[in-house]
Amino acid sequence: MNRPTISENVPTCVECGVERPKQAKDYNPMQAIIGAELGWYSGSDGELCGPCLSALMRMANGR
Ligand SMILES: [Zn+2]
Repeated sequence: MNRPTISENVPTCVECGVERPKQAKDYNPMQAIIGAELGWYSGSDGELCGPCLSALMRMANGR
């Protein structure tokens, strides 16, 4: 087995700096459509946790 070590490289939210929990789900557009809790978003700028992602979306919607 030659797996890369990822335990020391925990992704953190670029907004609030919280560490991504192991059980965190990935963001899926379906979550927004059905009104479910948003998962973590991984972008080129870094990761966003669910709460920060929802806040950002609310801002983008002008509410
Ligand atoms: Zn956050």
